[in-house]
Amino acid sequence: MTKQKGSIGVKTENIFPIIKKFLYSDHEIFLREIVSNAVDATQKLKTYASSGDFKGELGDLTIQVKIDPKKKTLTVSDKGIGMSAEEVDKYINQIAFSSAEEFVNEFKTKTESEMNAIIGHFGLGFYSSFMVSKKVEVITKSFREESDKATKWECDGSPEYEMTETKKKTRGTDIVMYIDDENKEFLEEYKIRELLNKYCKFLPVPIQFGERELNEPIEGETDENGNPKTKKVKKPWIINDVEPLWKKSPANLTDEDYVNFYHVLYPMNFDTPLFQIHLNVDYPFNLTGILYFPKVKHNYELQRNKIQLYSNQVFVTDSVEGILPEFLTLLHGVIDSPDIPLNVSRSFLQSDQNVKKISSYITKKVAEKLEELFKKDREVYVKKWDDIKIFIEYGMITDPKFFERAEKFYLFKDTQGAYYTFDEYKAKIDPAQLNKDKKLVYLYASNVDEQYSNIESANERGYNVLLLDGVLDSHFINTFEQRFTDATFARVDSDTIDNLIKKDDNANVSKLDDKQKEALKTVFENVIDKQRFSIVFENLSETDDPLLITQNEFMRRMKDMSALGGGNAMFGQLPDSYNLVLNVNNPIIADLPNKIGEEQENTIRQLYDLALLSKNLLKGKELNEFVKRNMKQIG
Ligand code: ADP
Repeated sequence: MTKQKGSIGVKTENIFPIIKKFLYSDHEIFLREIVSNAVDATQKLKTYASSGDFKGELGDLTIQVKIDPKKKTLTVSDKGIGMSAEEVDKYINQIAFSSAEEFVNEFKTKTESEMNAIIGHFGLGFYSSFMVSKKVEVITKSFREESDKATKWECDGSPEYEMTETKKKTRGTDIVMYIDDENKEFLEEYKIRELLNKYCKFLPVPIQFGERELNEPIEGETDENGNPKTKKVKKPWIINDVEPLWKKSPANLTDEDYVNFYHVLYPMNFDTPLFQIHLNVDYPFNLTGILYFPKVKHNYELQRNKIQLYSNQVFVTDSVEGILPEFLTLLHGVIDSPDIPLNVSRSFLQSDQNVKKISSYITKKVAEKLEELFKKDREVYVKKWDDIKIFIEYGMITDPKFFERAEKFYLFKDTQGAYYTFDEYKAKIDPAQLNKDKKLVYLYASNVDEQYSNIESANERGYNVLLLDGVLDSHFINTFEQRFTDATFARVDSDTIDNLIKKDDNANVSKLDDKQKEALKTVFENVIDKQRFSIVFENLSETDDPLLITQNEFMRRMKDMSALGGGNAMFGQLPDSYNLVLNVNNPIIADLPNKIGEEQENTIRQLYDLALLSKNLLKGKELNEFVKRNMKQIG
């Protein structure tokens, strides 16, 4: 072949300025594209070798990435299939160019924001190198070529390219990028290392970038402690792990392998994950990956966007919000599928049908794994439950399908520390805990210390009390009630236990008449904080406390939810309001009308303060006065 000059593509127009402009923030993608091409070419050669189409020596297939600071070039060299002159013409001048051109034509008819939305359709591939280069050379020799005849293609960013015959000893392709002045950072070692680490860390062919010093034992020499002496040697620095853990068979892996890999993925995170789910499926998608349930010490530590998406071991994105179901974004790990398009645009990924199917499929798999874990070893599962509950509840709240699946492995924990599945718990409280509307009442406490007396009175009546002290519990029980309309949740202090679960309709007869109650109410209202407390009379049993403080379930739940940002903000603004329940049958209350003046008022104050104290509501000045008053009685 003699020198060949030509214009790339049919419609000769300079597309390069437009390519340069494209996706300014994503310029760095070019390296992923060029290295991926090198990997593809190498993989193809391996395929030809195994099919017998290539009979030569494969040799060392390591891909080299090199910076030449003098020439200001960045070069990616592979020992893959290479290209003949005809192939360069076909693949680089025509096919690759036409997709680049298609991209540019689209670009011209659209505004920048419209373009950003569709940009992902175009795998700019090879031509993305022009985003950062003023000139690109391709020096390539096909694996079919036996002499040292090779092809050099070069293009300086104008529509004209030049193709000449050249010599090359080794099979494969060098892509030499003459980095332009605006993109000098891509000649910096740290920058290239960072990008290789981000995009190429798990590519299936070894990639060498530079060398590093390692300590190597010197044969036959030991130090005074008998340990082998070492010398520093320079070794090729392979930046990737060609067979990442998610590609291996779960049967051959230990927990330690998973933990180690977690730390490879998150070098700055020193925690050990709770456990992992290894996804490894062929049908209906080819999908592999590992999802870790991270240890969450504080709820504010929940971090999104820790999952990394890969397409055939090529990094796609770690910005998975809107791509994966919301609750999965709280997990850590990797998901790899060739069906995930190699796109730079999130909006494209979000609307991609394959991605949608994959994401609902992953939800299903996660649910199956959790169920399996629960069935296989309940004891182990229970131990982890308190930590994983937040993830599972989040999934149940945000995804009805996941809720349905989780019905088999969600665990209620009661205030005694026992765990029950949905079915087991229902069986435990039905029919003992039915209310007058025949709804099953799930009594719960959110704080065992603060609601101690209420839990006691429920237990005394033979009722069970759940412990729901998680941040998402208010949301969770709302979702639960919507799903199971015959169930209602009531915090143990939301009303008197006998009101929450009505046992018999022969309520106790009141020991006070209406007039006495009216008079008592007036005196009470002189003592209490009327803004926060409303007086309610109840005919409880003689042995129940004289005064109880309750807080309406609905109002409190709405407030809790708005505090979390999920509920109606209006409720968040409201002050806390409580009911002050006077048990007219308790002898102390029943006896109050017999007291008069200061004595009556003092008794009421004492009762009121004690009730506040029992709910941790007596604070500041009032608490101080209460303590002083009672001290005096001792002295
Ligand atoms: P894509 O990789 O999506 O097909 P590219 O624009 O990246 O598109 O590349 C166009 C074509 O050029 C490839 O399909 C391949 O045939 C060829 N090619 C690119 N890089 C190499 C390489 N390093 N070795 C061999 N062929 C290559």
